[in-house]
Formats: sequence, structure tokens, C-alpha cells
Amino acid sequence: MKAKITLLPGDGIGPEIVDATRQVLETVAGKSGHSFAFSTHLIGGIAIDETGVPLPDDTIVACRSADAVLLGAVGGPKWDDPTASVRPEQGLLGMRKALKLFANVRPVKLYRGLEAASPLKAERLRGVDLVFIRELTGGIYFGQPKGKETRNGLRTGFDTMVYDENEIRRIVELAFDVARKRSKRVTSIDKANVLQTMQVWREVATEVGKANPDVQLEHQLVDSAAMRLVTNPSSFDVIVSGNMFGDILSDEGAVLTGSLGLLPSASLGEGKLGVYEPIHGSAPDIAGRGIANPLGTILSAAMLLRHSLSLDEDAKRIEDAVQKVLDNGLRTADLGGGTSALGTTQMAQAVMAAIEGA
Ligand code: NAD
Repeated sequence: MKAKITLLPGDGIGPEIVDATRQVLETVAGKSGHSFAFSTHLIGGIAIDETGVPLPDDTIVACRSADAVLLGAVGGPKWDDPTASVRPEQGLLGMRKALKLFANVRPVKLYRGLEAASPLKAERLRGVDLVFIRELTGGIYFGQPKGKETRNGLRTGFDTMVYDENEIRRIVELAFDVARKRSKRVTSIDKANVLQTMQVWREVATEVGKANPDVQLEHQLVDSAAMRLVTNPSSFDVIVSGNMFGDILSDEGAVLTGSLGLLPSASLGEGKLGVYEPIHGSAPDIAGRGIANPLGTILSAAMLLRHSLSLDEDAKRIEDAVQKVLDNGLRTADLGGGTSALGTTQMAQAVMAAIEGA
């Protein structure tokens, strides 16, 4: 297999973790006889500095012509002025729009040996292995009208939550596809007891459930789902939701594992092309020190191999190697490595050695 992978390192620790992950991908390619061609492009703050815009046209072209995109993170104090007309995160939003990426997929898995890093008790965490599928391009974040105005002499803000049935169907169907490769259970999150939008959401999810009886569908209100995530997280398999509820619940889910540095994600559209990135930000507080945990990005690369390149075996090679290094007690600083903590490059090298040795 020959594949073109566009790298978008971005800002802060982005270049460090993306470079480490590229080396892991090269190791996998060498082991399996694949050839990956990498090209690196600008996004975020660095793109603003060098070109004046957070998403230069040639970056979009490079993403569209690639088989997959691996992203580090964008943003940092230098570009944090909320009143600025160009901001790093516009690069991310612009890319999702340009590539028509409507779904964010975030697996949350508890790795053996890291139970103590979680704020939950170990017995609550046993068996946690779930996936959030969040609608990314619709809902209340984008619905019109939205705005701020004075009503009856009072400053008033308003937003619109809106979903049509096509937007709901495509994300719920994606959740069913993902569930089919796992334990075949989908929990659809809504607030159908209060919101009309969410009544349509539940109707359409029910229709998808009826058309796909091989996957078990349950509905849950977002508030009780938030409680269940901390009281019984292992009872979930695939969780599908609209944009805002998914934004909140997936961050709640992220803390279950105890480290932001370990969690991967994918943003997907209709086809195979996807953008893969760790869920954390650009961590400006540790940028340039060589201590960032690269595992979230490395595990994002495993998702890239599985989804965009259909290289399931190679994806598993990476995931098994990550579990192996953790089983061997290797830790970065954020995972509690203390005085024997590995740096970014050393951790990536340990993963590569585990891949080579497998
Ligand atoms: P952050 O995720 O960057 O950092 C939060 C904390 O976690 C920091 O203490 C950081 O050092 C630590 N951390 C994060 N990733 C780590 C890693 N791989 N290894 C070790 N430690 C890690 O969140 P923040 O501080 O709120 O945001 C910093 C910047 O990142 C802001 O400009 C924000 O807008 C941006 N951001 C970008 C994205 C993205 O690109 N998708 C997501 C979130 C935040």
C-alpha cells in the first residue's frame, strides 16, 4: 500500500508530537512493507504568523489530495486575543468545513496500569472502553439566528438549536457502523423531554435502529448520561450525540482515563479521508521542552491506519505496542513518570521498539 499523509503540526507541542508519530508510522510501514509519503503544511498560529491566515489555501489542497491528515494542535498565548479577527482555531473549523467532516470520534479506553491516574475508583473503571461520536457541523453551535441584542432594555443573547433529519441520520448511521465492529450497542443521547430538536433526533435515531436490528439501540437523556458516565462508565459502548451535548460529555469521558495526553480522536466525513489528532491542546506550558506525551497522537495514527487506510493489523500493532510500553512501566511526566519519566522522543522510541520486537 502506498498512501499520502498530510502532517499539520500546528503550534506549541504540536511539532514535537507529530514528528514523533511520523517516525512511528514509518516504523509500521517498514514492518508491513507499506510506503507512506508525508508532506507537512501550516495551520493555526504559525500559519497566521507566516501567511496571515490560519488555514492557507495550499494546506486545504494538501489535505484534500491526501489519504489522511495527522494534526498536532493549534493555539497559544501569542494568538489568544479573543477580539482578534484571525485566530488559530479558525483553522480547525475551516478545515472541518472544507473537508466536510461532520463527525468527531473519540475512543476512551482505560489502559492497564493507569487506573491510579483516574479520579474514579478502580472498581468503577474496570472494563471502560467506549467511543463518543459527536456531530460536529450542526446543532446549536451553528444554528441561525444567533446573536446579542437589547430586548426590553436588557442585554439578551440567543442561539438556535436545529437539526434536520439528514444530519441526524448520517451521524447515527456512522455510530451504528462503529458499533458493528465492537460490542454492537449504541446509546443515543438527547433531551427529548424538553427540546423539539431532540424529539426529531430521537425519532430519526429510532428509525435507524429499526433499519439496523443487528445493533442494539438505547436512548438516554443527556443529564442522566452525564451521571452514568461517572457511576457506571463501563456500561457504555458507542455513544452518539449532537454537537453541544457531545462536546460536554466527551470532555467528561476524557477525564476517566486520568490523562489528556493519551486520548486520540478522528474527525470524519462521508468518505475515507479523516483528520486525526490527540484531544489535548497545544500545551504551551511545556512546549519545546521535549516532555510532551506523544501517545495520544500515536494512538490517533492507529485510528488513521484503521479508518482511512483500512490497515487494521497495523493499527493494532501500534495499539498493542502502546499497551506493552505501559505494561513495562514506562511513563511520561503527565502519566506520573516522576524522576524516571521518558521524554517525547524516548516514549516514541519505546513504542517503535515494541513494534519492531512484536
Ligand atoms: P491543553 O490540552 O493544551 O493543556 C492542558 C494541560 O494538559 C496543560 O497543563 C498541558 O501541559 C497538559 N497537556 C496537554 N497535552 C499534553 C501532552 N501531550 N503531554 C503532557 N501534558 C499535556 O489545554 P489548554 O492549556 O486549555 O490550551 C492550550 C492551548 O491549546 C490554547 O491556545 C487552546 O486554545 C488550544 N487548544 C487547542 C486544541 C486543538 O488544537 N484541537 C484543543 C484544545 C485547546
